[in-house]
Amino acid sequence: MIIAIDGPAGAGKSTISKRVARQLNFQYIDTGAMYRGITLKCLRLGIQPDQVSEKLTDLQTEIQLDGEKIFLDGKDVSQEIRSIEVSQSVSAYSAIPAVRLFLVDLQRAMAINQNILVDGRDIGTYVFPKAELKVFLTADVEIRAKRRFLEMQEKGDVVSFEEIVSNIETRDRIDSQREMAPLKKADDAIEVDTSSMNIAEVVEHILFLVTSKQGEGMNH
Ligand code: C5P
Repeated sequence: MIIAIDGPAGAGKSTISKRVARQLNFQYIDTGAMYRGITLKCLRLGIQPDQVSEKLTDLQTEIQLDGEKIFLDGKDVSQEIRSIEVSQSVSAYSAIPAVRLFLVDLQRAMAINQNILVDGRDIGTYVFPKAELKVFLTADVEIRAKRRFLEMQEKGDVVSFEEIVSNIETRDRIDSQREMAPLKKADDAIEVDTSSMNIAEVVEHILFLVTSKQGEGMNH
């Protein structure tokens, strides 16, 4: 079974996805982490978004997900990919078709022979259009920014609230306006607005949607 969870920045996708995947014993695939990984590598090497297409093959990038960790060329970069620098550049790199094709191939290969829960922007529309369950997670932009702000404060990152609002708005704009596989709710996705829900409530609701889908499957 494939569960696709898409939605704008800071909607709580990864927090929710991790918990739901753990409960269901599904493999969790954080596709945002993969785009962040490529971005981190390009930033380190000084490769601009408009240079990526020609350099991607030579870069020989290896990206591995291990549970909630991400390894870039064999090194754990789970912390580095969350920095504000990466957050501010990732949408520009993600808009490049060569980057997307490279990562989508990896994502599809991960789906072979296992139950997966995948979160991202284009999972229900492009990567796995036949996913059994598609959820589109949203929340008001102020609320998304507040949650992200608290999360970063807890980690000790020094970022202003305004910087986070601006980053979320900019990413949503670039992600939904790009030509290839833009951020968009799939026609058959179930929209869940988490603005007035807490984490436990959202997790419970998605588990309920999974159970309902599984029940539907048995009735066919
Ligand atoms: O999910 P997260 O916020 O970590 O994603 C970071 C960025 O990666 C997004 O803003 C978007 O530019 C890109 N992304 C994407 N397609 C996905 C997942 C993430 O373009 N499936």
